[in-house]
Amino acid sequence: MSYLRRWFATNVDAALADEALRAAVGSAAGQKILVSTAAKAAVTDFDSLRDVTARIKQHTLDHLDHYLGQFIETVQACGGVVHQAATAAEANEIIVRIARENGLSLCAKVKSMATEETGLTHALEAAGVRVLETDLGEFIVQLDHDRPSHIVTPIIHKNRRMVAAAFARELGVEYTEDPQALTMHARRYLRDVFRRCDLGVSGANFAVAETGTLCICTNEGNGRLTTTRPRVHVALVGIEKLVPRPADLAVFLKVLARSSTGQPITVYTSLITGPRRPADPDGPEQLHVVLLDAGRRAIHAGEYREVLRCIRCGACLNACPVFRRIGGHAYDNVYPGPIGSLLAPLMNNFERYADLPQASSLCGLCRDVCPVKIDIPDVLVRLRRDQVKRSVVPWSRRVGFRLMSRMLSSTWTYRMGQGLLRLVTWPWADGRWLRHLPGPGARLTRHRDVPRPAPRSFRELWKRGEVE
Ligand code: SF4
Repeated sequence: MSYLRRWFATNVDAALADEALRAAVGSAAGQKILVSTAAKAAVTDFDSLRDVTARIKQHTLDHLDHYLGQFIETVQACGGVVHQAATAAEANEIIVRIARENGLSLCAKVKSMATEETGLTHALEAAGVRVLETDLGEFIVQLDHDRPSHIVTPIIHKNRRMVAAAFARELGVEYTEDPQALTMHARRYLRDVFRRCDLGVSGANFAVAETGTLCICTNEGNGRLTTTRPRVHVALVGIEKLVPRPADLAVFLKVLARSSTGQPITVYTSLITGPRRPADPDGPEQLHVVLLDAGRRAIHAGEYREVLRCIRCGACLNACPVFRRIGGHAYDNVYPGPIGSLLAPLMNNFERYADLPQASSLCGLCRDVCPVKIDIPDVLVRLRRDQVKRSVVPWSRRVGFRLMSRMLSSTWTYRMGQGLLRLVTWPWADGRWLRHLPGPGARLTRHRDVPRPAPRSFRELWKRGEVE
């Protein structure tokens, strides 16, 4: 059974053994949380804003077909073409077809999680279209033949030395660790791409049903160049990205950047409604919007609809003590961290990703920072329940938990269990800690010390009058 495949455990072991990775991710995520907390504190009653965003998103999802229909009509009325893709492969086929029909050969691409999901870059390159990532982080990932490890900060796992080495090796520039010099190298390289590209591919942070507007947030201006310079602009947009009205953006833009990067607003917020009109000074001749399902409809139809409220801010990743120690690659999924632990089993393969909902201490930090108030720990617990129902959990674990439940439900068995635990762990006790348990307990102590069961329980101490 796939649950027993140890890919996640192997990935976690490798990540925990990688000091550079842990240092880079821990420090960057910690810094993000600090600036984000300060940015949110500067807004009066940020929590109420989260209530509003959660309500708008939930309302949109509860009336998804209505808003999808409205969005399709308004995009078409503005001169755009709408395509609907049921699967990732279908989305890629549509975009490759658009490229072929228009004889396009050089694609500038804005960072987009939907395109990561479908593996669009590989599909376009296989069809002979050269694709260049234009977000600096994604550009570095591409340059270094790597994978993104965070929804918002794709190179959170890299340090300056790694980036400098990739630039020197791949671009043939002089080795430097100076961020500004490295950025200038990337800028020069990408300017030429922007001048020559004939296809621009983006996602959308939000899609406004009432006006058919795509809202794209970037910090480097690459979004604007990608969506205005080429002849053809294709936006791959998950169907959950809809919001009803332009006015709704006001509240979403206020929470997105603050939750994500700790900025009051992203530096460039582009609103794109239709292709270039005759009087426009720039813009693409064609605008194609590809609406992506790829598992979203199935989530929408079930009890986990609230997960689709996610606006991909990445805050839950930064806050998560598990993500901060193992980084994003360990999850082996486009969406890592707490939101990835929900989306991977729900959208992709419930069995293959069965370990992910277990990879949480349920501390609740992800729920506290989520700008659309997704109750991530609650969904994780429900997914664990589903794993038991669908027999994804191995029988040994199910029997173990059943025994534990019996033991905890009677005072007598509970006390006996306490005594037994003290006895069986005694040979491995080192002071107050268990450092190296054998057999099935070995995984528990491989990367951390576990407190030894107390020699006497609180109840015993209380009885003896040793506590007040
Ligand atoms: S689940 Fe919430 S916190 Fe996590 S990425 Fe989505 S919106 Fe952000």
